[in-house]
Amino acid sequence: MALTLFSRRPEPPAAEPKPWPEIGETWTPEGVTVVERYTNQAGAVVLVYTAAQPNWYNIACLGCHFTKASNKFGTRSWLILQEAAGTANEHATHCRALPREIPARPDDDTARERLHQWLSDRRNRTRDQQIVIESMDSFRLHLQRTDDWIAAALQQLAVDQPEVLRIERSQYSDHVSYYARRLPQD
Ligand SMILES: [Zn+2]
Repeated sequence: MALTLFSRRPEPPAAEPKPWPEIGETWTPEGVTVVERYTNQAGAVVLVYTAAQPNWYNIACLGCHFTKASNKFGTRSWLILQEAAGTANEHATHCRALPREIPARPDDDTARERLHQWLSDRRNRTRDQQIVIESMDSFRLHLQRTDDWIAAALQQLAVDQPEVLRIERSQYSDHVSYYARRLPQD
């Protein structure tokens, strides 16, 4: 009897096909140039990308949080393409992490907050720390902003919170240097 009742149930309407979630196969985040993509054993994408410097390569696995932006001896804080491609390929061969959703692009307020937090993490009690945009490379997938946007945000921060960031302008060019201010002693 139960079987008869069950069999009379109307057919559920066919589900709308859902778009395949973007896991990085075609992702081109703002401020970053994706140069190569590898796929790990579970289909997660491993990116090789550049940000502030066109010849400085970085790696980010979109499955497991693996990132790399310095050579294996730690003597350089960037990779040449050959190193990046080799390491990304090796990581993709061994990583079994499932694909995650790609990081959403933050709104401007959130991006500024993330930038300020990143700067705060670099301050110490000893001395002002010079900040170069190149050192943000591994953080750029979470920021998703151009170099120009970052430079403007840093200059605004130096105006709004001079106790956090100061800038020095070159006498001879339009080059600007940024310094995260030393933390107060007490
Ligand atoms: Zn991974």
